[in-house]
Amino acid sequence: MACILITIDCGRADHLLGDGVPTPSLDAFREEAVTYSRCYSHTNITLPSHRTMLTGLWPSRHGVISNFVDVPLPDESLPSQLAAKGVPRDAFLSTNFLELLLGRRIGDTMDPFFKSLDGSEPFLKAKIHGMKVRMGRRDVRRKAAKTLNLATRWLGGVAPEREPFSLIHLFDAHTPYEAPEGLIEEELSRAAVKVESDRSLKEQLEEKELFCAHPQLRLKEKISIDYHPAVYRAALRYIDAELGRFFVRLKATGHWDRSTIAVTADHGENLGEHGVYCGHQLLFDETIHVPLIVKYPGGANASTTVDFAVGHADMARSLAAHYGLTLAGDGIPLEKLESGRDQFAEHAKRFQASLRRDSACYIRSWRPPPSDGSLRSKLFEQTGWTGKKGPEDLPPLLDAIVEDLEKAEMAAEGVDREVEAQLRGLGYM
Ligand SMILES: [Zn+2]
Repeated sequence: MACILITIDCGRADHLLGDGVPTPSLDAFREEAVTYSRCYSHTNITLPSHRTMLTGLWPSRHGVISNFVDVPLPDESLPSQLAAKGVPRDAFLSTNFLELLLGRRIGDTMDPFFKSLDGSEPFLKAKIHGMKVRMGRRDVRRKAAKTLNLATRWLGGVAPEREPFSLIHLFDAHTPYEAPEGLIEEELSRAAVKVESDRSLKEQLEEKELFCAHPQLRLKEKISIDYHPAVYRAALRYIDAELGRFFVRLKATGHWDRSTIAVTADHGENLGEHGVYCGHQLLFDETIHVPLIVKYPGGANASTTVDFAVGHADMARSLAAHYGLTLAGDGIPLEKLESGRDQFAEHAKRFQASLRRDSACYIRSWRPPPSDGSLRSKLFEQTGWTGKKGPEDLPPLLDAIVEDLEKAEMAAEGVDREVEAQLRGLGYM
């Protein structure tokens, strides 16, 4: 039967599993599933995190540690192994950059919607080795309803015994947050947020020394600093409602009972914590602690909660196990875990790494972030050596992991040279 991985971009665990927002659809889903209340992503941005979920490898080990890297999935990855077995698979993603850099490597073809846009205007600008890169049209996104409709239609057309695999990615809770007006109104009212302010958002952020991580927010407007976090919560509620509709329709396709369905997030979101407003920077829990809810075939262990630390690398091996496959990754299948594991995370800009064990968290920064604007010294100061005081062996363990990764020479520099050649070949540089 099917294996369906659903990722809610920027979905914080405390919001989706806790009291952050009402999530009736996910609450009902949890009645049929296992909730992993302490799941951690292994990095803070989208593409590397998704590749970890599909390979079981930490970013430095799978080699993609930025959002601007275009390389094929390795033969050992789950989609590649499924392709070799002839398993139907496809990805339903909500941004064109993720479709271009990942989706078309999972499905057999590029999503027609994104393909129709590709190449007309630049959507992705990046510097690789100081050279400008431009690809496709910028920042095209699709609402959850549309993406889930496409996934439903595709799954409905595949016989359950063919055991299809699909990755579904929902982007509404990523800046600039998007949600129906009615839900935004409800969230503003629930949090008693007065939209208007007598000062610009930029001035309010400066006063609180907050770094705004997304350039598309309305910084010049006289709008309350609480406005965007409320829209973020409304976006999560919209996603929850659409997931509810999706689950009903999925049950009608005959895929539900014996399927593995995992709902998680690629990373979380800072809404003002640790100096970051509306972005996913640094490796604190707001960014790294993600929800993980897994419905196993036959509803095994339904309505239970696992409260020890697990990670996406562990989840990846569980998804592979659904097909009787093994990923030679950094994780252990969730079903085989009887206690928590040390969970490693690395920052996409490679200036931080963290390790979590039980309730302890150790975060190490070894240089300031390279391009985080005027507040970067503050960010560095805050995160220099921090986290909750943990077991004494966490710092040397983290040093050893980082040293090991650096020795493996899987860092961005080496990969970027490969990308550079590919992009040059495609005429993007
Ligand atoms: Zn993301």
